[in-house]
Amino acid sequence: MEQQMIIEDAEKVLLHTYNRYQIVLDHGEGVRLYDKAGKEYLDFFAGIAVTALGYHYPGFDEAVKNQVDKLLHTSNYYYNEPAMEAAEKLLHASGMSRVFFTNSGTEAVEGAIKIARRYGFNKDGKHDHEIIALKHSFHGRSMGALSVTGNDHYQEPFQPLIGGIRFAEMNNLDSVKELVNDRTVAILFETIQGEGGIYPATKEFAEGIRKLCDDHDLLMMCDEIQCGMGRTGSMFYYQQLGVQPDVVTIAKALGCGLPVGAFAVSERAAVLVPGDHGTTYGGNPLVCAAASKVFDIFEQDHILDHVREIGQYLYEKLEELKQKHACIRAHRGVGLMQGIELDIPVGPVSAAAIDEGVILITAGTNVIRFVPPLIIEKEHVDEMIEKLDKALTRCE
Ligand code: PLP
Repeated sequence: MEQQMIIEDAEKVLLHTYNRYQIVLDHGEGVRLYDKAGKEYLDFFAGIAVTALGYHYPGFDEAVKNQVDKLLHTSNYYYNEPAMEAAEKLLHASGMSRVFFTNSGTEAVEGAIKIARRYGFNKDGKHDHEIIALKHSFHGRSMGALSVTGNDHYQEPFQPLIGGIRFAEMNNLDSVKELVNDRTVAILFETIQGEGGIYPATKEFAEGIRKLCDDHDLLMMCDEIQCGMGRTGSMFYYQQLGVQPDVVTIAKALGCGLPVGAFAVSERAAVLVPGDHGTTYGGNPLVCAAASKVFDIFEQDHILDHVREIGQYLYEKLEELKQKHACIRAHRGVGLMQGIELDIPVGPVSAAAIDEGVILITAGTNVIRFVPPLIIEKEHVDEMIEKLDKALTRCE
């Protein structure tokens, strides 16, 4: 079917929850995507930081296909080997003790919220516990995850949300301390705010939160759904910040395109018991075979070293671009999770970049974000910069 016809038909059948770009992506190869009309795009978005290994990475498709031939699904009434293997590798990489596999990031956040509530209930049997989350955060769209998402625009039409959530400010430890009281059970934050506009937590802030949690017997819960799984040059960003959380939520690059998320907990936070939580699909053999292979590839092919090298190169090139374009107000980020803040509307810049042949999507209201596949090379950075340069010139 023709690209335009697919778009028109899709608009008739899909619920209109997105203002989509007017392209139909058809296939991918390496770090490139191709639309139905045959146009090639350099991918600097990776399906929202998901396809860390790009498209058709050697060995990945085979691992998935082998599992398709064996067994797709079992339910959690039984054990399955890929889930056990993926769990062991995830725990080794994260330094956590136990994991629950979910189908998405949002569900991982739901799990974290339930851990916090259960932790408080176990302590004093009360139902008035509070979780501190951060303003400008994003944790997902379900009622629980939306409740901890510090964005009025997303929350307003769906009130009332779950109670007991208080909002502090990123990198402002005093604003967190002010909210701690004897009902507080957990502090939840993205170690790098992604959707909010690429705001990394500072080491001081993360260490301060850790101390606050230790002093008051609270759970430190890090959302690494977007910034985790190698994107910053370490498996998880909290490792660079020098802290170990009690709960971490993971998704996106965990399956590199297969829908799998997880919440992993320390022994202290392993409070859920049979009957407390469940999922039909979560942790099925197919998605876990993919996740397990992702961990293997990361190790064998030294993906983290690569991210550190290319992340630095991207940083330097974006700094140069910032010198050239007055509309670039700020540049932030770590590894292959960076953003430039513009003082011109970002929507047209993103559209112009796509038109130039590089997929670059926005974050927050004024940021162009860079979350490419982790396997990009310097030549891809150069190509992206050239195309973005043109796009900015068109829009200034
Ligand atoms: N948490 C963070 C930090 C995210 O970036 C996202 C998605 O962008 C989510 C949670 C929700 O994940 P999902 O869309 O897989 O449900």
